[in-house]
Amino acid sequence: MKIKISEIFYSLQGEGQYVGVPSLFLRTFGCNFTCGRFGMPLGQISTERDEIAKDALKYADYRDLPLVSTGCDSYASWDPRFKHLSPFMEIDEIVDRFQALLPERNFGNKHLIITGGEPLLGWQKAYIDLITETYNREMKLRYLTFETNGTQPLDEKLKNYLRSLAEGFNLEITFSISAKLPCSGESMEDAIKPEIVKEYLTIPNKSYFKFVIASERDALDAQIAVRKYQEAGIDIPVYLMPVGGTNSIYEMNERQVADYARDIGYRFSPRIQVPLYKNEWGT
Ligand code: SF4
Repeated sequence: MKIKISEIFYSLQGEGQYVGVPSLFLRTFGCNFTCGRFGMPLGQISTERDEIAKDALKYADYRDLPLVSTGCDSYASWDPRFKHLSPFMEIDEIVDRFQALLPERNFGNKHLIITGGEPLLGWQKAYIDLITETYNREMKLRYLTFETNGTQPLDEKLKNYLRSLAEGFNLEITFSISAKLPCSGESMEDAIKPEIVKEYLTIPNKSYFKFVIASERDALDAQIAVRKYQEAGIDIPVYLMPVGGTNSIYEMNERQVADYARDIGYRFSPRIQVPLYKNEWGT
């Protein structure tokens, strides 16, 4: 079984509940959204990605791609104009890369983050083989996070498999649910899906919401979304994280988003990959 892979890298988790935890990242290709409004005024959509896409074929490696300060900062992991950068890889090949990336002296428990794009859009059955292979190779996988936008139902087989790992192997499973608000450019109607998130929570897990916001209006939208989830009986931690794929935009939003989180009673999540690594691909 193969998965279309944008990036595999080893770094520190930069966001949410496991911030600072050394982690293997598997970034799959494909997303059901385009999130073109991040960092743009109401009614406007970022054109940075389109500019880069004019020369898409001149790029042969993710690490050479320009960063964007507005719109989705992982644009090349779903925009078809960049699909040549994302090969289909066999499960064995992927786990070989994991092992090659892990520092020799890292004997501890491992954290695997499956991200995207939207990683639950496809490949769900392949994750069963992938995770099983990490156990076959005794990689000491102890934590597993899916970074999802919370709109994709879970395949029944994957759900049962994850449940068996959580209960039988003490695997700590997390859905980091970055549900999209209108500041992303997506509509609440398309993005807020309580019945789907409820399904994730039937597996023993440590899931949380992470809303990417900039303004007071966005903070209010986060509260509206949380209320919709609460009405469906969902009560998990909520993080607010600043919009900002580049340092200047991140720094502009950081303080006020921290203040909104403090005042509303939500948690604040930094994006440490921005100040630490400038949010470069592979970090
Ligand atoms: S859901 Fe995430 S990966 Fe998909 S377009 Fe929006 S920000 Fe990008």
